[in-house]
Amino acid sequence: MSSSPPEKPRSTRREFLAGVAGAIVGLAVGAAAGSQAFPRKITETVTRTATQTVERTATATVTQTVTQKVEVKPWLPEKWDEEHEIVIIGSGFAGLSAAIEAYDNGVKDVVILEKMPSYGGNSIINGGQMGVLSPEEGDSVDLFVRDMYVAGRYLNDLELCRKLAIESRDAFNWLVSFGVEFPPELKIQAGGHSVRRTYQTKNVTGRDIVVKLVEQVNKRGIPIRLEHKVTRIIREGLREGKVLGVEVEVKGKKIYIRARRALIIASGGFSRDIALRKAQWPLLDESFNSTNHPGATGEVLLAAEAIGAMLIQMDQIQLYPFAEPNTGVLDRPAVIPFTSPAYAIYVDKKGRRFVNELAPRDVCANVQIFVVKEKPTFTIFDDAMWPKFTTADVMKEGLERGRIIKGNTLEELAMKAGIDPAGLVETVKRYNSFVEKGVDEDFGKPKMLAKIETPPFYAIPQWPAVHHTMGGIRINTRAQVLDVNGNPIPKLYAAGEATGGVHGGTRLGSFAITDCIVFGRTAGREAAKEPLD
Ligand SMILES: Cc1cc2nc3c(=O)[nH]c(=O)nc-3n(C[C@H](O)[C@H](O)[C@H](O)COP(=O)(O)OP(=O)(O)OC[C@H]3O[C@@H](n4cnc5c(N)ncnc54)[C@H](O)[C@@H]3O)c2cc1C
Repeated sequence: MSSSPPEKPRSTRREFLAGVAGAIVGLAVGAAAGSQAFPRKITETVTRTATQTVERTATATVTQTVTQKVEVKPWLPEKWDEEHEIVIIGSGFAGLSAAIEAYDNGVKDVVILEKMPSYGGNSIINGGQMGVLSPEEGDSVDLFVRDMYVAGRYLNDLELCRKLAIESRDAFNWLVSFGVEFPPELKIQAGGHSVRRTYQTKNVTGRDIVVKLVEQVNKRGIPIRLEHKVTRIIREGLREGKVLGVEVEVKGKKIYIRARRALIIASGGFSRDIALRKAQWPLLDESFNSTNHPGATGEVLLAAEAIGAMLIQMDQIQLYPFAEPNTGVLDRPAVIPFTSPAYAIYVDKKGRRFVNELAPRDVCANVQIFVVKEKPTFTIFDDAMWPKFTTADVMKEGLERGRIIKGNTLEELAMKAGIDPAGLVETVKRYNSFVEKGVDEDFGKPKMLAKIETPPFYAIPQWPAVHHTMGGIRINTRAQVLDVNGNPIPKLYAAGEATGGVHGGTRLGSFAITDCIVFGRTAGREAAKEPLD
């Protein structure tokens, strides 16, 4: 009997490799087609490797690798519509400070781009509290930095913190030299600070500072271009080379503005960017109010990331525990709970205290959201103490609007505010006994400066709202933007709330102004040293 020969595996090698290579070339052509002709300075050679299973048989799997070099060109505009030496994104404390300092360091061609119809961002609605190193109060650089570090849950970049401490007094004096008034009697010790180091502007608002900075900007002839929204940052290479300029949306049209010396990002935080904040911390959905202006969104941060900047600590988002409960607005009465904790107490609707009032903001907000749970809570103080932490004007306006509630007795106050009267009376009695003993047996508040005993009594309703985004663009002490490898991106600077690392996990109240002025000035000075292209 004859038997048929055993079957050999069939050779089925197909034209597979040619197909893979063709796909790679197609990719490269597509990328190049999207780019424009001018002024392409750098092209990049990218090595793409494709490993493909060529054949499977009963006995073997054969793989083969194809390597092909293709040229990928970055997108660049066909022409620049405008050129300036220094271009600044954002007209808040950081952007305005950078502009003035760049000009005063010799660069006369500076422009500020602002997407909103008015300037000032969060800075102009800010509460006007500025933390400044105060050795006369027992302060020191180490104590200042330690307070930041403890509040920041040890996430802060300590070099940036030290710079803030060391340069804070100079930043304060710089503002005073422009006519900003910080009445000494309004200096307070705020939550999370170990000493009294927080000044307040005369009218308890950041507008007092913005107005004076804008005066200086105008005096120097620096234009603030309103309704100019930056939509893209343009760099020589895909993630390499110098930063060249920006794409800007103006009345629905795109224009291209070249920054011949440097670009400074001072576009603020992203508390109003619900999609971005939810991506970082899903709890913070639409149900949370925000204290911020509507333009506090993160598109510039994402544009910076797209050209290679490193974003850090983006999930470190601060809630202001004392915003107006229904709207989230941080109006002037809402500043009182923040400036008063060495005197006042916070209570829930049952009249019970729930926290050490001098604790940092995240502690207080978390207790409200996760422990108290019922909105609102209240700050309680008396008639003898308010001149220590606010002004007659703020009290008058708050009382007239009904934002501050007044009662001739604690019971009357409680009834008007919707607090349990017996609970409030009992809590105040107990708290006053702690003040006498000098020991807070319930929450360990380290400083209790007065009993709550002089009528009339006051209550301010409060609830957490999204307030400050501590994360953002990574910078060094020269305000240079760092890439993912820790190297400065040539001709790119950033300052203010757009940056991350200064405040770590929680910003201490009143250190944002200091941060914006110190690093805004640094960015302006350093940008002015860049060579002109
Ligand atoms: C109600 C409130 C009260 C506060 N009170 C205090 C306080 O008392 N003390 C303190 O230290 N801190 C306080 N803060 C925090 C502090 O005000 C901010 O951190 C600070 O103002 C940020 O300044 P900035 O210059 O970085 O950004 P901003 O002042 O927000 O300015 C950024 C600007 O960039 C613009 N911009 C954004 N994207 C673009 C784009 N794509 N193109 C062009 N422009 C763009 C924005 O419209 C905005 O005008 C407060 C914050 C709020 C909201």
